Amino acid sequence: MDRSELYQALAERKEQQLWRQPPVLESAQGVLVQIEGREVINFCSNDYLGLAADPRLEEALIQGVKHWGAGSGASHQVCGHQRPHEQLEERLAALTGREAALTFSSGYLANLAAVQTFVGRGDQVFQDRLNHASLLDAGLASGARFRRFHHLDYSHLEGLLKQAGSGRRLLVSDGVFSMDGDQADIRQLVAVAEQHQAWLLIDDAHGIGVLGEKGEGLVGDPFTAQQVPLLTGTLGKALGSSGAFIAGDQVVIDYLRQFARQYIYTTAQPAAQACATLQALDILEKEPERRWTLLQRVKSFRQQALAAGLPLMDSATPIQPLMLGSNQQALDWSQALRDQGFLVTAIRPPTVPPGTARLRITLNALHTKEQVGLLVEALAELKAQDREGWNA
Ligand SMILES: *Cc1c(COP(=O)(O)O)cnc(C)c1O
Repeated sequence: MDRSELYQALAERKEQQLWRQPPVLESAQGVLVQIEGREVINFCSNDYLGLAADPRLEEALIQGVKHWGAGSGASHQVCGHQRPHEQLEERLAALTGREAALTFSSGYLANLAAVQTFVGRGDQVFQDRLNHASLLDAGLASGARFRRFHHLDYSHLEGLLKQAGSGRRLLVSDGVFSMDGDQADIRQLVAVAEQHQAWLLIDDAHGIGVLGEKGEGLVGDPFTAQQVPLLTGTLGKALGSSGAFIAGDQVVIDYLRQFARQYIYTTAQPAAQACATLQALDILEKEPERRWTLLQRVKSFRQQALAAGLPLMDSATPIQPLMLGSNQQALDWSQALRDQGFLVTAIRPPTVPPGTARLRITLNALHTKEQVGLLVEALAELKAQDREGWNA
C-alpha cells in the first residue's frame, strides 16, 4: 500500500464535504454539553431517556467496579462471565418477552453474530437498503447471497424471495431506522417471512427503552419468538449504558452461545457496565413518565416544525431528521446552529444515500419545552435566510 493513495482519498473526502471530525465533549453526556469551552444544547445524542449521566447509573457503575473489578479479564466462555452478566441476560429476556438473551459488548458485534451465525455460503440474506451499516456489513461478510430491497417496500422483497434459490433465508430490518426515524412494518415482515419460510431478524436499537407499553420496543411484546426469531438491541442508546444483546428462544440463544464467534472470541464487557444497565432497566420500569415526556417532546417538536414549514421527514420516534439534500447545506446549517448554541450533527453519505444529507435531530426526555421551541425558532430563521439567499 502506498501512502499517496491515502493522502489522495483524504483529500477527496475533504473536497466532497464529507470530512468527519468528532466534536470533543468537555463534559458528561446530557442535554447541556460543553464544547470548545462553551455550553450548547444537545440535539444529537441517542441518550433518549437522559440516563447516560444519571447519578444512579453512575453509582451502580462505581459500586459494580468496587465489587467486580474494572475489567472482566476473559471471554464469557473462559472465565469472564460474572453474576451481573447473568442477571442482565435474564432481565433483557423478560423485557423483550423472550426465553433467553445473550449480551455482547456492542450492537455492531451483536448484529454480526445474529446474521453470520445463521447464514453463510449457499444461503440468502435479504435486507432493507437503509438498514444500519452493521447489518449490511454482516450480510456482505456472511458469504450468503446478499439482496437489498427498496426501503419498506415489501412487495419488492416478495419479488426477490420468489426468485430465491435453495438454502436458508434470512430477512433483516431495522425496527426504527437510525437515520430516518421511520419504522419497519413488523406485521408485514412476519407475514412475508412465514409465507417464504424465511427467518426474520429485527434490530430494535432505537425502539428498546423508547417504544412499547413498558419500553420493550417495537417487537418485544406483540410478536413472538416464533414470528421474530432474532431480536437485537443495544444498551448504549435509550438505556444510557453500553453493550448490546440478542433475544430469542432458548434453542436460538444456546446455539449462539456455542457458535457465535463474536460472543466467544472477545473479552466480556466489564460486569460493572452490566450493573449500570441493570440500574437503567430498574429506572425504565419505575419511571415510565420519562418515555411519556419524550414522546410529548417529539409531538411538540413536530407540530412546531411543520407549522414553520421545515422539511421534516415522516417519523414518530425521537429521531427527527430534517432533509436538506446537499452536503454543504447540511454542514452550513449544523455550523450556524452551533454558533447559536445548539449541537446538531450533519449526516452525510455514505451514512445516508447520496443527495440526502440531513440534520439528524434527536429528542431527549430531559429537553424542556422551551429548549425544543428555541431549536425550532433557530431552524425557522435558517430557512428564512436560505430563502433570501436564493432570491438574491
Ligand atoms: C447504533 C446502532 C447499532 C450499533 O450499536 P452499538 O451498540 O452502538 O454498536 C446497531 N444497529 C442500529 C440500528 C443502530 O442504530
